[in-house]
Amino acid sequence: MPLDLIADQNCVRRYLLEDADDARVATVRLTQSLTTMLAHQSMPPAVFRLCGELASAACLLANMLKFKGEMIVQLKGSGPVSLLVADCNSEGQVRATAQWQDLGAAQSFQDLVGTGYLAVTADPEQGERYQGIVPLDGSSLSACLNHYFANSEQIDTRIYLAADTEQAGGLLLQRLPREGGSGAQAETWETLHALTETMTDDELKTLAGPPLAYRLFHGQQIRQMDPWSVQFGCSCSRDRSARALRSLGKSEVESLFAAQPRVEVDCHFCGQVYQYDQADIEWLLSDQPPGPDTLQ
Ligand SMILES: [Zn+2]
Repeated sequence: MPLDLIADQNCVRRYLLEDADDARVATVRLTQSLTTMLAHQSMPPAVFRLCGELASAACLLANMLKFKGEMIVQLKGSGPVSLLVADCNSEGQVRATAQWQDLGAAQSFQDLVGTGYLAVTADPEQGERYQGIVPLDGSSLSACLNHYFANSEQIDTRIYLAADTEQAGGLLLQRLPREGGSGAQAETWETLHALTETMTDDELKTLAGPPLAYRLFHGQQIRQMDPWSVQFGCSCSRDRSARALRSLGKSEVESLFAAQPRVEVDCHFCGQVYQYDQADIEWLLSDQPPGPDTLQ
C-alpha cells in the first residue's frame, strides 16, 4: 500500500519496516496542540523550543505505554532554565511547563539548563510508578534522552527532536531486544541509524510523519500505522491542588490563612487558579492521606 505522504499534525505515528521487524520507528509532530499548550505561559523563544522538544519526547514515550497512565519527562538544572516538565497520558493528553529566569546571553542547551538531571517517570493509574534518572550529559535534550535510554533502559534508542515557536517534531528509532541477535540485525540497525542521522531540524519540524519516514526509509517496504492523536490537556483539579497545599504541612497552611482570607494555587501547566477560603481549612487539614506526588 503506498504511503499517504501528507505531513502529520498533532499525532504520533508508528511504522513497520519489512526488513527490520526488530526496529521500532515512530514520529510525532505538534502544531496547534503545542501553541495552545504554551499560549498563556509567555515564554522566551528558547524556552518555548525546549518545551516543544520535551512535549514531543513525552508523546513518543507515552505512545509506547502498555498500561493506562502517563509518562513524565522532567529536567532540573542549575542554569537560567531551572525546570522543564512535560507529561503525556495514555489518552494522548499532553502538557508542558518551565521555570526560568533572565536568560542573559545563554543560547545553547548546556548554557540554558546548566548541570542537573533528567528524570523519566512511567506512572500507571494502577501499580507502582517507575522512575529512571540520569545526569544531564549532552549538548541537546535528544542527547540526554539517548543517554537515559542507554543507561536506565539499556535499549539502543535514538530520539531526534526539533522545535520552533509554532511547531515541534520528533522521531524515535529503537532496537527492540531480541535473544541471540544476529549480525544481520546489527547491520540493519547501523543502516537505519545512519539514515536517521541525515535528518535536518527543518525536516523534523515540518515533515515528521509519513513524508519523513518515506524520505528516510524509501529503500524498504514501509507500512504506516494509524495516527495516535495528541492534544493539549491538563489533569489539574481542585482536589489535586488541595493536595499540593496540604503537603506544606498544618502550621504552614494555618499561617497562610492567618495572613489572608483566601489562598490561591495556580496550575503552571494551564493557568487555572484554584481558590480556597476559611471554610476549606478543615477539609485541607483533614487526616486524609496525601495522594501521589503531583507536578504542579
Ligand atoms: Zn492545569
